Amino acid sequence: PEAITVAELANRMAEKAADLVKSMFKMGMMVTVNQTIDQDTAELLVEEFGHNIQRVSESDIDIDHTTDVDPEETLKPRPPVVTIMGHVDHGKTSLLDALRGTDVVRGEAGGITQHMGAYQIKTKGGDFVTFLDTPGHAAFTQMRMRGANVTDIVVLVVAADDGIMPQTVEAINHTKAAGVPMIVAINKCDKPEANPQKVRERLLEHSIVVEEMSGDVQDVEVSAKTGKGLDELIEKILLQAELMELKANPDRMAEATVIEAKLDKGKGPLATVLVNRGTLKVGDILVVGTESGRVRAMLDDKGRQLKQAPPAMPVEVLGIGGVPMAGDLLTVVESEQRAREVSAYRQEQATAKRTAMAPASLDTMFSALA
Ligand code: GDP
Ligand code: MG
Repeated sequence: PEAITVAELANRMAEKAADLVKSMFKMGMMVTVNQTIDQDTAELLVEEFGHNIQRVSESDIDIDHTTDVDPEETLKPRPPVVTIMGHVDHGKTSLLDALRGTDVVRGEAGGITQHMGAYQIKTKGGDFVTFLDTPGHAAFTQMRMRGANVTDIVVLVVAADDGIMPQTVEAINHTKAAGVPMIVAINKCDKPEANPQKVRERLLEHSIVVEEMSGDVQDVEVSAKTGKGLDELIEKILLQAELMELKANPDRMAEATVIEAKLDKGKGPLATVLVNRGTLKVGDILVVGTESGRVRAMLDDKGRQLKQAPPAMPVEVLGIGGVPMAGDLLTVVESEQRAREVSAYRQEQATAKRTAMAPASLDTMFSALA
């Protein structure tokens, strides 16, 4: 027989735990909210409160869509998502800032920028590119460990005056392990002591053969300081993206990945998310990690209010009940009832993981329908 806590059962019935305790007291049972009760007692309570008993199967609750693949005909091209990696001081932050500066939309909007962990630019040619503004492989590895593979392309920054350094090698290894294609940006080419050819030669030692050396890894000489090579870098990113035929179904309930999240004193929990598929809309009911909520408002990286966010668009979401974690999956669901079920399920999974206990068998767990 499976057991469930009074609090958990109350949560699933959307009733107050105290009311359940009271009701059980009337039935002659003395329990506290954190106490577990057996299946028979739980069923009794569900009936007592006038709900229907519904057993939830694992496939029902698998909203993480591991098995749910969008049919080919629903897929439309989407922008690439790019992460910049490289050794400290080789110019990752400078390059991200310089690339942000090439955004034609930002030019029109007057250049207000809010930092939110990711941004999207519209290129001169009208294409979109999304950059994760969390440089460094720590973020990249952490996201991957949490099962979030959001990066399509890695731009490896190597300073032409410093060459291949330990973190350059680490970045190469992480990128290879992730199976993500790489573009090498040889930075600081404005410096008199810059030696881009040496960088290309040294990359051979790590099995990176760039185009200039007749290989198939694209490389480009840039300067984040002068802006040299930035257009070419964007062109190469778009070329790589084209080869990958990146697509997603925009016409479905959204799924997104949390890039970063924080608690804002005025606005409450804020999460920057990147839409993986579907279109995220204001008013959507969602579950994110173990939190749930409703999209109250969405802002882009230019501080503009959005009503909708398509695949590969990063947005800041207001209206989540708590602060989720980077790498958490956000899923839009059809009802608040469903959101409660799913967040309860995920909380249980998280607790089971924490206490290193096997999670309760799901097909014998209950949920209640109002
Ligand atoms: P990060 O640690 O990789 O994020 O590197 P930063 O972007 O913070 O850059 C480190 C230093 O290199 C800063 O002093 C930058 O101003 C400088 N820097 C970055 N890119 C360039 C460049 O293209 N040319 C020159 N001359 N300096 C650069
Ligand atoms: Mg930096």
